Amino acid sequence: MKLEQLTALGMEEWRVEHKNRFQIVDTTFRDGEQSAGVVFSTEEKINMAIALDRAGVAWIEAGTPAMGEEEQETLKTLLALPLRATLIAWNRANLEDIRTSIACGFSCIHVSLPVSELHIVHKLNKDRKWVLHQLKTALQLVQSYGCAVTVGAEDTSRADPDFFLEFADVAARFGAQRIRFADTVGCLDPFMTFERLQYVVERCSLPIEFHGHNDFGLATANTLAAFQAGAAFASVTLAGIGERAGNASLEEVVTSLEKFYGYDCGVKLSHLDLLADLVAKASDRPLFPYKPVVGPICKATM
Ligand SMILES: [Zn+2]
Repeated sequence: MKLEQLTALGMEEWRVEHKNRFQIVDTTFRDGEQSAGVVFSTEEKINMAIALDRAGVAWIEAGTPAMGEEEQETLKTLLALPLRATLIAWNRANLEDIRTSIACGFSCIHVSLPVSELHIVHKLNKDRKWVLHQLKTALQLVQSYGCAVTVGAEDTSRADPDFFLEFADVAARFGAQRIRFADTVGCLDPFMTFERLQYVVERCSLPIEFHGHNDFGLATANTLAAFQAGAAFASVTLAGIGERAGNASLEEVVTSLEKFYGYDCGVKLSHLDLLADLVAKASDRPLFPYKPVVGPICKATM
């Protein structure tokens, strides 16, 4: 759908079309914890996981079991909590890493591989054939355990969109439930995001998750553009914490969806302050007073 068509289409019809179609995937414990100097304790993760679950977040990317025993123990504790949310284990396409995740008790496995030439050739010294083979082998292993699997395409925004589609096709054939379009280095603007997402959404058999970074302060805007282009999931973090300038903020994305489009993605707005406070304390980074939606000055004037 083009932007003009979107405006021409009645907002009410558009809302009906999108109802229950766009879901939030929180990656505060995985990508968020990659923020320089941030380390959450097990107790902090428990409190945040319970709060995310109560707020209505359906998917929590809980961490990377391959990081070691301490991480694995924390993840086992999270898996034992009586949550409705599905906890996801992040993995490279490495068979040992995936076995470690399954041994922890995860039944939803995320497998991630790069799709841009910059990463495949210059960073890994491999080629596209290698990427597709690794993906297939990893997914066959996950399938053999009967686990659900989601796939991440690192650096999609700098990749050939047709290779992303080829990658997504292999993911679909080997059981993936969705594929992540990652703007890993935060180099898209909302117009580019809309165009790129529209191109792949129309040609991809899998639902697409958008993962945006905030290097130019555009992660939330890009996530909304992805939503309008037909993405089905948004990858976000609490208070937007994450590598460099961070990720798309859960609070901003959820509130914008509600205020601009009347779209309820299932996350309760009344829980956002508590979530932001929890991550601010756990990361030892007080909320910037002017931070949109949850900053103390912003809240007072909203
Ligand atoms: Zn990221």
